[in-house]
Amino acid sequence: MEQRKGRRLVLFPLPLQGHINPMIQLANILHSKGFSITIIHTTFNSPDSSKYPHFNFHFIQENLTETEASTTDVLALLSLLNIKCVGPFQDCLSRLLSDVSDEPVSCLISDAIFHFTQSVSNSLNLPRLVLRTSGASSFLIFSTFPFLREKGYLPIQESQIEEPVVEFPPLKVKDLPVVKTCHPELLYQLVVNMVNETKSSSGIIWNTFEELEQSALATIRHEFHIPVFPIGPFHKCSHALSSSLLTQDQSCISWLDKQAPKSVIYVSFGSIAAITEAEFLEIAWGLANSKQPFLWVVRPGLVQGKQWLEHLPNGFLEDVNERGHIVKWAPQLQVLAHQAVATFWTHNGWNSTLESICEGVPMICMPCFSDQGVNARFVSDVWRVGVQIESGLKREKVEEIIRRLMVEEEGEEIRNRTLNLKEKAKLCLSKDGSSSQSLDGLISHILSLES
Ligand code: UDP
Repeated sequence: MEQRKGRRLVLFPLPLQGHINPMIQLANILHSKGFSITIIHTTFNSPDSSKYPHFNFHFIQENLTETEASTTDVLALLSLLNIKCVGPFQDCLSRLLSDVSDEPVSCLISDAIFHFTQSVSNSLNLPRLVLRTSGASSFLIFSTFPFLREKGYLPIQESQIEEPVVEFPPLKVKDLPVVKTCHPELLYQLVVNMVNETKSSSGIIWNTFEELEQSALATIRHEFHIPVFPIGPFHKCSHALSSSLLTQDQSCISWLDKQAPKSVIYVSFGSIAAITEAEFLEIAWGLANSKQPFLWVVRPGLVQGKQWLEHLPNGFLEDVNERGHIVKWAPQLQVLAHQAVATFWTHNGWNSTLESICEGVPMICMPCFSDQGVNARFVSDVWRVGVQIESGLKREKVEEIIRRLMVEEEGEEIRNRTLNLKEKAKLCLSKDGSSSQSLDGLISHILSLES
């Protein structure tokens, strides 16, 4: 632990699982470097503050109605939070700044999607850094939304989805970071606000590493004219207790302990993605027919309009018997690090993608929305550490991909590349590694922000 710096940082995470995890990890990293940490959080989806006695927590009342809080339209929720949080956040932050009995606050670190926080910081004369919890490559694409619209790529036309985005190889139109279920204008506005208010900030912190996204990071540095700090992968340098909002079912680990090394397909689509009943059945039969052991996270709400497993075909569980284990939520970091896990069938949320890379686990990619399409394309076509399910989810396709990964020579090559990337992810955190140096740069930058 470093000597205390006598300086406080105020962190404001977006209240979604894939955003809370990296913000809490970042808080731990900065705390270990001597900063005191205050976390402002919405009451909605709040993490268990008792797990982090070394942080101060302040909960604001964003006053979402029950219907607003239980919506499955994430875009509508995020847009609403950017409106409803303004007053409570501003009050909370100005109270913290005027508390002379506490250490002086160096800056605010807010999730990039909370774009309203830039004008609040300006009004309080407090520097704001941004944490972007997704990758740099997808952010670069978000930052070109006006261009993509002008060129006719957006809004996406169904007839063009297989065509290349010639300006951004190897992306195809279907990989562009959109949310099909929401109104295109709502997404466009949110993205443009996020990008513009990031440009106005005092710097961007990234849960990525230089060697993984060198090209995107270089372009962003060139175009944004603000400091950029890729200091990830966070979860490998922070030993934070899990910030999981759902209870992680530990039976996964005892079940994995009984499986052969490198034999299990781990299947999880994160905390938000939802699939249709037809897709669910293709996954189920693809897994059953593959004859490989599988650990499958079926989050309540994963299948649109269903509770949990009630629509599994009769006899499915008997059919797969001990070969399949289904849970509602898994301790994912432990699962991916387990020697029994051979491959990760993922929706390619950024955290899941990075966590898989860090454990050297090849991926089966099935992106659902937002940045996941870009992440998946990088996994399959740039880093070449996974295979993507293209053109429709069919059980025969699933079986074929599992065979390619687990049996054929292609799988061996993919595994070797994944292990190579895992090694790079480890090296960047070593004493002279790129992320360690970037973290030193971030700390100096924060200390230089004080007037
Ligand atoms: N996660 C978990 N248990 C699960 C599935 C996911 O703990 O059963 C964690 C995972 O380790 C990751 C986060 O939830 O840190 C999901 O973030 P990601 O960016 O992958 O996807 P999102 O949920 O935002 O779509």
